[in-house]
Amino acid sequence: MKRLGIRRKALVTLLGVAVPSLLAFSALIIASTALILQRNASRQVSSLAARSATGLAEMVERSQATLLTMAASREVSEYRVAAAGNQARLAGALRRLEHSFFGWQKLDATIQAIRLIDPAGNVLVKIKEGKVVPATGPARPPFSLPAVHSVAGRDFFQAALRLPRNGVLISNLERGRIEEEDAFCPAMVRFATPLVGANGVKVGVLVINVWGEQAGQLINRLIAEAEGSAFLVERNLDDPHRNGIYLFHRDEACEFGDQTGSHRTIFDDYPPEITSAWLDRDRGIASDPRTRDILAHAYYSPYGRQDRGWVVVVNARRDFFLEPLATIGRQTALWAAVVLILALAASLFFARSLTRPIQDVVEGIRRMGKNTAERIPEGPQDEVGFLAGEINRMADAIQHNAEEQVRVEERIRDTEKLASIGEMAAGLAHELNTPLGNIKALAILARKGIEQGECDRRGLTGDLDDIVDQAGKCSDIISGLLSFARRSEARPMPHDPASLLGEALALVKLRAEKKAVRLTCNGPGHLPSLLVDGDQLRQVFVNILLNGIDAAPGGEVDVTLHRQEDGVRIAFRDNGCGIAPEHLSRIFDPFFTTKEVGQGTGLGLSVSYGMINAMGGSIGVESRPGEGACFTLFLPATEEKGT
Ligand code: ADP
Repeated sequence: MKRLGIRRKALVTLLGVAVPSLLAFSALIIASTALILQRNASRQVSSLAARSATGLAEMVERSQATLLTMAASREVSEYRVAAAGNQARLAGALRRLEHSFFGWQKLDATIQAIRLIDPAGNVLVKIKEGKVVPATGPARPPFSLPAVHSVAGRDFFQAALRLPRNGVLISNLERGRIEEEDAFCPAMVRFATPLVGANGVKVGVLVINVWGEQAGQLINRLIAEAEGSAFLVERNLDDPHRNGIYLFHRDEACEFGDQTGSHRTIFDDYPPEITSAWLDRDRGIASDPRTRDILAHAYYSPYGRQDRGWVVVVNARRDFFLEPLATIGRQTALWAAVVLILALAASLFFARSLTRPIQDVVEGIRRMGKNTAERIPEGPQDEVGFLAGEINRMADAIQHNAEEQVRVEERIRDTEKLASIGEMAAGLAHELNTPLGNIKALAILARKGIEQGECDRRGLTGDLDDIVDQAGKCSDIISGLLSFARRSEARPMPHDPASLLGEALALVKLRAEKKAVRLTCNGPGHLPSLLVDGDQLRQVFVNILLNGIDAAPGGEVDVTLHRQEDGVRIAFRDNGCGIAPEHLSRIFDPFFTTKEVGQGTGLGLSVSYGMINAMGGSIGVESRPGEGACFTLFLPATEEKGT
């Protein structure tokens, strides 16, 4: 059974609403989650960078404070006094100083080395990595004391010596040179402050080296490797060799480019719009255009300068901070699929429950079409039940009307039958009257001739021939009547309609020539064969052709064959006198004729009508007086195709 469109429509409507809204909803959730995640991640990354910059600042401040505290200690003061005048106490002061430095270093593990340098650059006391480096070198002015070594020519020393009291010189973060080995120790920062004697004379410089590694650890702890990376960059706008170098990086090979010979800087790894922000601004957050990673930076200068300092950069991987989004996306897709399946099931159920009763009604109507006594089961008292009830009531009314119509038609038919029997009887009487009257007159004349002895043999033979002729006419009328009444047994066989028509045309050819009627015939090459009695169909063709020829003397009769899907249509069109409208409904009645007495029997069309009906076909006519007539036959094709 054909499915009702309503189910499809309900499904399409539901899915048409559910699917786009689900997709839009899911997209909205994912987009807003991505935005929230990105904002959170940016905030976190930014605060990480800022916190570690603060950590660096604290480290520097602590180291500075340690240096200044050491410079203000009793032992350093004793040295300052001795160095400024009382040099006899100097050696003792240095010994005590050595002892004190030793204690300081033990106390503060971040200190790598402590040095006391005299104003000429001789290192008088040096503690390095928990050991006293003995002053074994030759005695040099101004104090003529043995020195560890000399740093007289080193920039940091000269610069520190020039500073005012309590001024602190902070070096770059770099790898310390191990003088004796000409190698580098791990990263560190040097803090130096001048020592000023009582009379304001510079008596030396106090230097502490602080391990830079703790800054490295601070940076490396910022972000786990899976989340991204963090690194410390030097901003040094005056020194192009140091500007943009990595101070701490996971890839240690690129650290301290100026010292280690690595050429890798931030300019090799990041686009200019990002590196310029790192070198210009204190803080910032950006997205790497290539990877869409989040890049946050914070700047800190231990020198209190904008053009020289350290930039902490945190590079958070986009994949990592958006990882929850993938989970949310997967879950949203899963739920969307579940909701979709539920919506589908619900819409199917809804559509089914709606269409099943309608389908029952359709089935019921179909059964009613086959059997008018059938009725639709009315079911529950809902809209469909109400519809079924109304259809049933309508069917009752139609059946009642149809029965009434049949009764009326039967009555009309009875009346028509009576009328046509009367007409037939009148026609028959009229038709038979003339030949019978002639027979009677001829017989009377013959008898009179015989009685009066005036009848010769030739005359009598002539009369008898006339009687036989007139009796033949009567016999023709009777046989026509019989073929109408009995419809002699038909013998259906497959026939080609075109060849039957050809035979019929040949039969009427002489009559057409006599009446100067042009006969034409058109049709397709091949026509389906018809299961008919060939004699009967030929007779039908002849009847219709003869009527056309009689109606159109000097005119034409055209026959056209049409192939149709289920049979053959044959149109007989003439341009004769046509049929009066009041005769149109009567021409198929037996004995209806408009022809002169002796010319027509009025049986041709009625006999043809009966035969065509018996063949399962139909016959119709269209005509207007003066415009000719067109008789159309339809004959169904046989079921055996190709025969
Ligand atoms: P008959 O030809 O003996 O009169 P039919 O039954 O063949 O009997 O025809 C009945 C009547 O139908 C004819 O007398 C004529 O009036 C009318 N008729 C039939 N065919 C035509 C036609 N082609 N043109 C005009 N009238 C026609």
